[in-house]
Amino acid sequence: MLATANEHKADEIRRVLEVFDVELLARPVNVPAADETEETLEGNALLKARAVTSATGDAAIADDTGLFVDALDGRPGVYSARYAGENASYDDNVVKLLGELDGVDEAQRSARFRSVIAVTYPDGASWWVEGVLEGAILTSPRGRGGFGYDPVFAPSTLSGASLAELAPEEKDAISHRGRALRALAERLSIS
Ligand code: IMP
Repeated sequence: MLATANEHKADEIRRVLEVFDVELLARPVNVPAADETEETLEGNALLKARAVTSATGDAAIADDTGLFVDALDGRPGVYSARYAGENASYDDNVVKLLGELDGVDEAQRSARFRSVIAVTYPDGASWWVEGVLEGAILTSPRGRGGFGYDPVFAPSTLSGASLAELAPEEKDAISHRGRALRALAERLSIS
């Protein structure tokens, strides 16, 4: 059972798990999304998966992602979606981030995306895996692809290009979520 109602994420998870003998179901409409009340990604991912397992009796998968900026002591981190306010748009969040980093020089703009994927089972067992992408925050947006903070995030392994300048499959190959999904597949294949 997938805790996410986000179709883009659900498709990504389905693509990785199609080689396994599992049937992936969407969260039933009568099971509400759990509030993300924890202060860590793993806490929120486990909380979201557990809520679905408790309500349905099925094993469940949930994910949580955040952008951790060193010059901001790790903010926005677990609050990345609501950084500029409860109903903030991706643009609002990017504008706030660039504002907070105004005047911070290039060497001090290091950051990382972290994705956690948690799995919970009806017998109470659970585990989680993670994927990390190291990089830096640019001083202005670049590129039109991707979503969220992609236009201002430059992976360390590329020479200054932003995630929004990559084709989707290029992003998947290096991204935090791509890495977490491959770790999920590896863990499932040995369990
Ligand atoms: P979520 O936990 O996957 O919903 O991610 C929380 C927030 O992190 C999103 O609202 C985005 O702002 C940001 N985010 C997550 N994944 C990405 C990504 O791959 N690129 C850019 N921003 C992301």
